[in-house]
Amino acid sequence: MTSSSNQVNLCVNGCGFYGSAIYENFCSKCFSQRYPDKLNQIQQQRKRKRVIEETLPSVEEETVEEKELPKPKKIRCAYDTCNRKLPCAAQYPCKCGNMYCKYHRFITDHDCTFDYQKEHTQKLIENNPTIKADKVDFI
Ligand SMILES: [Zn+2]
Ligand SMILES: [Zn+2]
Ligand SMILES: [Zn+2]
Repeated sequence: MTSSSNQVNLCVNGCGFYGSAIYENFCSKCFSQRYPDKLNQIQQQRKRKRVIEETLPSVEEETVEEKELPKPKKIRCAYDTCNRKLPCAAQYPCKCGNMYCKYHRFITDHDCTFDYQKEHTQKLIENNPTIKADKVDFI
């Protein structure tokens, strides 16, 4: 492989620094010593070029990310024929896991599937340890 483009040229003055093509293969130091006027010219040319490059309108790719905002889920009354939209203040969650409007919030207003009888008896036991205690025979 021959890569002449990447070849590093040392300063032709033999100072050990790298030479540059724009300095006629001298390093900038040696070049400035030999051609102080030329160096100024070159540096000003480069500066001007840089200014032009910097003032060029940079093409900014505007990546418009269309982020879809998650739409607030409209909560509706779970009652079959009702389907009312429920504002936050008027949501009545039922123990069956559904949300109802104020008209269908009660278990008697919708066919509630929650087993209230079971919960009722469980709560009775939980809240009344005496029920069990009653059965304990005191000796
Ligand atoms: Zn040099
Ligand atoms: Zn309803
Ligand atoms: Zn219910």
